[in-house]
Amino acid sequence: MSSYARVAVPRPLHQTFLYRIPDSLIQTVEPGCRVLVPFGRQHLTGWVEELVSDPEKLPSNVRDIIDAPDLEPVLTPELLALCRWVSHYYVAPPGLTYRAALPAGLSTESSKRLRRTREKGTARTAAEGKLLALLDRRKGSIKLSSARKILGPGPWSQLADRLAGRALVEIEHEAPTVVPPARSRQVITLRREMQTLQERDRLFARAPRQREMFEYLESVGGRSEVAHLVEQLQMSRSVVFGLVEKGFAELRVEEAPTDLFASLPATEGTQHTPTKAQASAIKRILTVAGKSPPGIFVLKGVTGSGKTLVYIEVLRELVARQGKGAIVLVPEISLTPQTLGRFRAAFGDAVALLHSALSEGERYAAWQALRNGEKRIVIGARSAIFAPVQNLGAIIMDEEHESSYKQSDPSPRYHARNVAIVRAQRACALCVLGSATPSLESWWNTKSAAWQLIELPDRIGSRPLPAVQVVDMREERRTSRATHPGGPKGSPVLSATLHKALEARLRKGEQSILLLNRRGYSTFIQCRDCGAVQGCQQCNVSLTHHLRPPRLVCHHCYHQRPVPSACPECGSRDLSHAGVGTEQVERVLGEAFTSARIARMDVDTTSGKWSHHEILGRVERGDVDILLGTQMIAKGLDFPSVTLVGVINADVGLNLPDFRASERTFQLLTQVAGRAGRGPAGGEVIIQSSLPGHYAVSFAIDHDYDGFAAREIQERAAPTYPPHTRLANLVFSGASEPRVQEAAQSALQWLENLLKAQRLDSIHLVGPAPCPIDRIRNRWRWHLLLKSQDGSPLGRVLRYFALKFEPPATDLRTEIDRDPVSLL
Ligand code: ADP
Ligand code: ZN
Ligand code: ZN
Repeated sequence: MSSYARVAVPRPLHQTFLYRIPDSLIQTVEPGCRVLVPFGRQHLTGWVEELVSDPEKLPSNVRDIIDAPDLEPVLTPELLALCRWVSHYYVAPPGLTYRAALPAGLSTESSKRLRRTREKGTARTAAEGKLLALLDRRKGSIKLSSARKILGPGPWSQLADRLAGRALVEIEHEAPTVVPPARSRQVITLRREMQTLQERDRLFARAPRQREMFEYLESVGGRSEVAHLVEQLQMSRSVVFGLVEKGFAELRVEEAPTDLFASLPATEGTQHTPTKAQASAIKRILTVAGKSPPGIFVLKGVTGSGKTLVYIEVLRELVARQGKGAIVLVPEISLTPQTLGRFRAAFGDAVALLHSALSEGERYAAWQALRNGEKRIVIGARSAIFAPVQNLGAIIMDEEHESSYKQSDPSPRYHARNVAIVRAQRACALCVLGSATPSLESWWNTKSAAWQLIELPDRIGSRPLPAVQVVDMREERRTSRATHPGGPKGSPVLSATLHKALEARLRKGEQSILLLNRRGYSTFIQCRDCGAVQGCQQCNVSLTHHLRPPRLVCHHCYHQRPVPSACPECGSRDLSHAGVGTEQVERVLGEAFTSARIARMDVDTTSGKWSHHEILGRVERGDVDILLGTQMIAKGLDFPSVTLVGVINADVGLNLPDFRASERTFQLLTQVAGRAGRGPAGGEVIIQSSLPGHYAVSFAIDHDYDGFAAREIQERAAPTYPPHTRLANLVFSGASEPRVQEAAQSALQWLENLLKAQRLDSIHLVGPAPCPIDRIRNRWRWHLLLKSQDGSPLGRVLRYFALKFEPPATDLRTEIDRDPVSLL
């Protein structure tokens, strides 16, 4: 019988650790189980990777497992193996990988609880006295972590041990809770309306912050979660209470809302008959189901071609008829209520939804229902790829090109598409990757690997793709300057063409969608006299000006500052606001079309858990004339009465120093254009750009994916980038720039030596160089790229590097990002 276990702990460590299994736990401890283990001076909840009967080298100080809380392993053998693959391929610490794969409530760390015994005795030191006094105040029982919070830092754990040695206290190790309690949340709701400015000036005369918050709440529909205000917007709690005290708002504690998606009406009772193209796609996919290996499909269907129906019919066969399970991945649950509704209509209660608005308890319940086979289909974002679905028959990934499928931070930095393919192959399940604009990698694999391409080239009902026209904003600037000589510098927000088109839609009562992939009011504030730009103190980026509430915000570290009225460098009051954001467009629209009902959808307006849902609901009911937003409005929405899509500025993102900049721009333009003309009234698209000749823009205008892909494949040939090569990005960061640079240099040296010694001349090193954003949160950043034709030597080198390379200074962090989606 095995008497040792190899355990991964939730720390950023690449090793696992050997523990002895005490006799009492021999029956319980299995691979995939959680165990409570001593680790240094702490106790941690780790995961058993494997049992070992005769360790080759038994470390002299092997310690015992303290406890094993699970009746059955939390990780099934399938998931344990999958996580081990993820940790291996992405060179991610195994403990962090297991933690990422499980619902949060299952990985809470264990804690010590101290209990006062009946033993009489007194403290021998002042510190002991403090601890005992605290225990008395807490009726004789307290968690060590709480004691530490109250008493401040100190050797409380050792003191507790000493007191326990004299039997004055008992120490209990609390096992991690299995079912975390449901969450409740505090919500602030406005109680009165203020119509006039005078009233506001009077009531908020000495409380500008309260006014800001009041107006912010007004702008988001009158209510918001307090946690969102405090944590994301960094507003102060005392301002919340101020508003409540004055009777302008009230606070309520709400139970975490019951799952709104669960009660989502099943849309579309009408079941469509597949078109010819859909039927042939379904047939092709199903003929290989159950064969070994069952195959990977790229379902490339133009926007509005009915991909969802293909997914549903494939699952109807596999799940409803053959009793298998399935995973359906979508980029972001809250943005795809319509897709969810269709799945719910088809599969009802067999569907479990994993989304970010679930409480830990609800998430755990969904996980458990999948695990015991009660639910057979999971729909969720990235991490749902780890859902414990039984008897897996298919994995479907919608909008497979979306970069949100890659977890960039923290480790494990995995791409759900890659994990999907591995999981499907191992389970002998089929894998369908759907998109109107497949990632270049997937496209390439249909040419060079065994992936199969299935196309849906036409829209349902042979509706045409919308006509796209581009407005050259350089021209527009010239004409607007000629007609309004004293007018504002720079481009107008709305060109005459787009203005007219919007007007026509309003007149006819049709809906429009406007995209600008940049939130806030303006992206930077610059002094016209000395040129100084308002930048973040912690990051090397400019601060974005937000209007409601007014503040400058760093979009990287969320640091905030009041908006200056004069240049902090030279005192000049001549400040220019450049780079239009969604808040500014909203204002311009409001001024241009006074009676239009405008909804803005971006990170700032989707504060509450269900705000996406609320906004999209208003659009669906026809209560909105113009939906304005960032890329979140470009995905999956299917509103037949949208006849106009406008892109305010197609060039945002095109000049980013990243090899995927063109690909992202092409995808975004194509996807948002696809929102137009889904109904009988048809549709048109107007793209404003100052780079109308750029191929990412021109191929999007022609709806020419193949043309774009061919060109982009060429662009990536020299210097080589994926899909021509495999890529890994090593990022070094720390507080001192010279040391970071030194570390990056020494890593280069180290790797060069390794490659030479191992004769690995197929791997190329590029750099090191400062990262494009070379400082974030006060840490300087350098990076080093590894390029390789072949994945397996690259993986070996990265793993060896992770285990053996020692950076010259201790405060340095090294991140390994394999197959990065962004190099910023
Ligand atoms: P995609 O995801 O490819 O952009 P959707 O799956 O959203 O397209 O489908 C577009 C629209 O066409 C939806 O409103 C859907 O209900 C409708 N639709 C799909 N298949 C059919 C069909 N066979 N017959 C009629 N309508 C269909
Ligand atoms: Zn200045
Ligand atoms: Zn910052």
